[in-house]
Amino acid sequence: MGKQDKAWHQSPHETLRVRDGFSITDFDFAGTPGFTGDKKDGKHLLKARGTHLSDLQEQLFAEGRADGTRSVLLVLQGMDTAGKGGIVRHVLGMVDPQGVQHHSFGVPTQKERSHHYLWRIEKALPSAGKIGVFDRSHYEDVLVVRVHELVPPDVWGKRYDEINAWEQRRIDEGTRIIKCALMVSPQEQLERLSQRLDRPDKHWKFNPGDIDERGYWDAYMEAYQAVFDRCSPDAAPWYAIPADRKWFARMAVTELLAATLEAMNLEWPAADFDVDAQKARVSALRK
Ligand code: ADP
Repeated sequence: MGKQDKAWHQSPHETLRVRDGFSITDFDFAGTPGFTGDKKDGKHLLKARGTHLSDLQEQLFAEGRADGTRSVLLVLQGMDTAGKGGIVRHVLGMVDPQGVQHHSFGVPTQKERSHHYLWRIEKALPSAGKIGVFDRSHYEDVLVVRVHELVPPDVWGKRYDEINAWEQRRIDEGTRIIKCALMVSPQEQLERLSQRLDRPDKHWKFNPGDIDERGYWDAYMEAYQAVFDRCSPDAAPWYAIPADRKWFARMAVTELLAATLEAMNLEWPAADFDVDAQKARVSALRK
């Protein structure tokens, strides 16, 4: 098989998108849907597509500088060790950091708790021309909050519709939203947790609380299923990304980002000065 064959034969937009009838129970966490090739091919393609992504991102950034109003928001969710950090490092790491607005959402602070749950989310939205990255997000307010009953069911139960309406407003304002759930299997999570303990350079990533959270796996899967079922409108569907193979997840997110930027039909902004006149001035300086 030639190298050109070892690529996407079906776009991740199609294969990974959560549609009606999607069930986590049937999900293949180690799958590589739509991709013909192995890890080596994947890493090779990631680099090539990273260059393309970087070019597109520069155009988005340029548009933002030229009074454009559009932006992109990548929402990353996943169980502990699913690889959110790796996506930030290996995918967003391929583009100019000036164009990326990254925000992690942890346990809300006292101040954040005194506001509506979307308050801190709204403050972190990407400005025009930027790619915003949410490492965890408003979905924690229907995931961890639901699993641990941090608020009563009638409170979190209303949030799905509220989130859909809130996201639609952001879309109307010019933000494209890509929601990626990194789906790691419990077996692979165990491997990754144990690797973290075996390697002193990974101890900083280990949180004893992650083992406690693992005990709620089924409740989390139920909460994720509800998120997929209730918050996948056409304008901002979820993408369920098999994450047991890190190289595949990184490649898939790269592709989703690139395809989203491509669909924006970005163009280099026209000069707001007389190019010929400026060329003449530069020529004059050479004399
Ligand atoms: P990570 O696990 O992503 O590397 P942290 O160790 O800082 O980062 O964990 C963030 C924690 O914050 C997670 O346990 C997550 O469930 C929790 N969290 C995020 N948002 C909320 C929220 N709205 N309510 C309660 N807990 C939250």
